[in-house]
Amino acid sequence: MKLTVLAGGVGGARFLVGVREVLRPGFSSKNDTSVPENADVKITAIVNIGDDAWMHDLRLCPDLDSCMYTLGGGIDSARGWGRAEETWHLKAELAAYGAKPDWFGLGDRDTATHLIRSQMLRAGYRLSDVTEALCARWNPGVKLLPASDDRCETYAVITGPDDGNQRAIHFQEWWVRYRAKLETHSFAHIGADSAKPAPGVLEAIAEADVILLAPSNPIVSITPILAIPGIRGALRTAQAPVIGISPIIGGRPLRGMADTCLRIAGTETSAQGVAQYYGARSGTGLLDGWLIHPGDTAEVPGVAIQTAPILMTDVDATAKIVREALKLGGAQL
Ligand code: GDP
Ligand code: CA
Repeated sequence: MKLTVLAGGVGGARFLVGVREVLRPGFSSKNDTSVPENADVKITAIVNIGDDAWMHDLRLCPDLDSCMYTLGGGIDSARGWGRAEETWHLKAELAAYGAKPDWFGLGDRDTATHLIRSQMLRAGYRLSDVTEALCARWNPGVKLLPASDDRCETYAVITGPDDGNQRAIHFQEWWVRYRAKLETHSFAHIGADSAKPAPGVLEAIAEADVILLAPSNPIVSITPILAIPGIRGALRTAQAPVIGISPIIGGRPLRGMADTCLRIAGTETSAQGVAQYYGARSGTGLLDGWLIHPGDTAEVPGVAIQTAPILMTDVDATAKIVREALKLGGAQL
């Protein structure tokens, strides 16, 4: 069984834990060998790089890190990002110097990851090589692939709060500093013209038995992946069915500001709105199947709609969601 998942950060990471539980029951990232590796099972996550940025001379890859730490058991699960048992001395020291940007902080433990990544990138390694090197420690049990080794960062086109002029700011500044509260007109994927899918990305899509769109933010987690030339086309021509899980339940996102992002993209915040946004693969879109929560409705010609609880409350509940999605995709488990 080969499963390929498109994923963002926190929502994508939680979903991947469920995927791993279904395909590799009992897997432990602690490098133990009690559960034999099943060579027939391959889980690949194609992870959003649109949030990536340079800050304080460090390369941030928030979604890759959320996936790596969550699957590797190192995440601060209350915060949803960064390392467990974190301390913040570095942040306090930078603040004492008045260092900018001051709206952003990395924990001390987390900084080690960022130092290694930044050093490797400066030495000429590709982001996919770096990710593999970092994952050797965390043993996520899922192949984590950046969507691209090239920079392709999401910017928000805003009206400046001070001067009223339109300009683009990096997604991180928009999300973390301004909490998505600026007058915003659109998102742009800077670098998308020349970015190429990372090694293994197109292969993972072409070879998959089932392709899943995690219940990640459609606009700022999944769309930046689709913006990299070649990926959308590969999904449209893949042999495997493409099944999505709605990130919207009862007209609201579960956490984060997906409703704001959807509004900017001109899409209704509903299971129906997101299904229409992705569209049917039999038309000009991506979906063969769409999983929605009980009480929600969706109807898109060409897309098989299935209703099942899609709250990722714990690993078992998430594994059930994955089984429903695989069933919808016609996979034999
Ligand atoms: P981010 O990159 O850290 O923002 O994470 P993602 O984009 O991967 O995931 C964020 C999305 O996950 C949000 O739009 C949420 O609505 C969605 N989400 C979070 N928890 C759940 C859940 O339990 N069930 C479903 N269906 N969606 C969820
Ligand atoms: Ca993200």
